[in-house]
Amino acid sequence: MRSVASPEKLGGGWLIADTSASRVFTPERCSDEHRLIAQATREFVAQEVLPGLERMDQKDWKHVRYLLRQCGKLGLLGIDASEAYGGVELDTPAAVVVAEGLAASASFGATYGAQCNLAIIPLLFFGTDAQRSRYLPRLVSGETVGAYALSESGSGSDALNAKTHAARLPDGSFVLNGEKLWITNGGFADLFIVFAKVNNEQFSAFIVERTAPGVSIGGEERKLGLQGSSTTPLLLDNAKVPANNLLGQIGQGHKVAFNVLNYARFKLCASTSGTAKTALGESARYAAERKQFGKAIANFGAIKHKLGEMSARIYAVESMLYRVAGTIDTFIGQRTKNASSTKLAAFEEFAIEASILKVAGSEMLDYVLDENIQVHGGNGFVKDYPAERHYRDARVNRIFEGTNEINRLLIPGLLARRTLAGRLALIPTAKELQDEILAPPPSGVAINNPLDGAKYTSAVLKKVALLILGCAMQTYGEALRDEQEVLSFAADIVIDAFAVESATLRATTAHAAGTANEHLHLDAAAIVIQAAVTRCEAAGREALAVMSQGNALRTQVDTLHRLLSRPPANTVAARRRLAEAAVSRAGYMFDG
Ligand SMILES: Cc1cc2nc3c(=O)[nH]c(=O)nc-3n(C[C@H](O)[C@H](O)[C@H](O)COP(=O)(O)OP(=O)(O)OC[C@H]3O[C@@H](n4cnc5c(N)ncnc54)[C@H](O)[C@@H]3O)c2cc1C
Repeated sequence: MRSVASPEKLGGGWLIADTSASRVFTPERCSDEHRLIAQATREFVAQEVLPGLERMDQKDWKHVRYLLRQCGKLGLLGIDASEAYGGVELDTPAAVVVAEGLAASASFGATYGAQCNLAIIPLLFFGTDAQRSRYLPRLVSGETVGAYALSESGSGSDALNAKTHAARLPDGSFVLNGEKLWITNGGFADLFIVFAKVNNEQFSAFIVERTAPGVSIGGEERKLGLQGSSTTPLLLDNAKVPANNLLGQIGQGHKVAFNVLNYARFKLCASTSGTAKTALGESARYAAERKQFGKAIANFGAIKHKLGEMSARIYAVESMLYRVAGTIDTFIGQRTKNASSTKLAAFEEFAIEASILKVAGSEMLDYVLDENIQVHGGNGFVKDYPAERHYRDARVNRIFEGTNEINRLLIPGLLARRTLAGRLALIPTAKELQDEILAPPPSGVAINNPLDGAKYTSAVLKKVALLILGCAMQTYGEALRDEQEVLSFAADIVIDAFAVESATLRATTAHAAGTANEHLHLDAAAIVIQAAVTRCEAAGREALAVMSQGNALRTQVDTLHRLLSRPPANTVAARRRLAEAAVSRAGYMFDG
């Protein structure tokens, strides 16, 4: 495989690079400071947030505002902001541990996410000095609540098709008209980042204060979950916005909208990881206590399967998440420009990884929460246990911050675009691979232990991803954008390849360090790999069958099968060991 000098510099670069485990950030590499921040966040949630869940569900927004101010006092709202604005400006893994910790309450997590990721971040990334000085200190302290108003009834995924318009007055100020929908924090927010078209065509962002003339809020949506998070329309009826509340430049609103979403997708994954670990703890404790047929249900193989599978899927997402956090900080560390523009560039560069994390995290979480209910039996279906709340709250993760369909399309779409722009050498690498793959199989690939097997399969899955992507780009050229099914299959393979490589690199590090639970890392990686191989072969076959036929197709699927057919690992035993570790730790075995 082609080696690029510094793969961590490039979004998608991992696909064509050999990444060394020693350069990959893992949860085990978190510092004492990260652990302290995680602990402080968990304590805040346990002592302040969870006791007030009912009040939040009853839409007690005064209480939610109080919680936001408490968050501000702890510094949790100022993770991205510099001291000049009252922030603490921590590194990216710190932002991850905070989002993971806050996820034990999904509703408050959503409130927090809208404040930090959707209001503070756009101001930090795109605000003028005056705008930042005016708004950030009070957002960072939690005294002001922010919201982000992009969606409309006619434009959700197709966000740039917004109908809200902004007319410019002779004095330079703006008058906004339109209706925004689904606004998180809408019921009590003080300011909104609003997207509207100047002269009905130049998509632009504005800072709109709630008290401005012409601004009003619609009623609360009646939702499946997240009852303790406000979601309302925002009505703009000749709303007056001063000239200096234009955020960024006229016609450049897409840059604000999409870069903010890159960051939010990354953070959403951290929330899914946090909720999944909470749920695994609930399942493990319940399974240890609940007795049927004279013994704790944790002793049954079918329940062990669930606990083990939940653990392995969390491991995969967590490995990717922390890897990307480290990659982003490496990117930021290499640049000397001012911090917010560097961070903006980092999230633009790693947009592919942000979409991978968003899809993988939200789908992992739905699996984990479904099984959490199942482990609880009837008790999973009633409100006495948190399992049903988690289940309802999580469903929206596949819908907001760009639906999973849109994010799936973005992954290969961005890879192809960067290839065509000469920024990623996907096509030449895929061509080299074609020759390599069509040659007779090398006689002795030495696979002496599970880790060697994992590394081998990890490399193979990246080759499969490159083959399918290369084939799709060659077959369709520019028209590939219209082949959504092929793009989605390609995305699934890319996601699995990234998950497998991230899990393998993390297990490699644990092995090299000789950590006490090294065998559990290998177990988790083995389970992740086995499922990914099956999925990737299926997705590859589906995609190839669209693009080829006859003998060519037969050769391609035979090659795919040859590449992916290694004897299966005993994942039943691996899941049992993980399940036993979850029960004895009463939670996620890799925490702490
Ligand atoms: C609880 C909640 C909170 C929210 N908070 C906010 C917020 O704070 N601010 C904000 O601006 N918005 C917010 N949203 C809106 C959210 O971002 C949108 O719901 C989301 O972007 C999807 O848009 P839509 O609902 O219009 O669905 P649509 O775009 O109509 O999509 C419907 C279906 O069609 C698919 N689809 C659409 N286009 C394509 C395509 N080109 N190719 C393939 N499939 C496609 C989608 O994937 C989906 O499955 C929130 C939504 C909810 C439910």
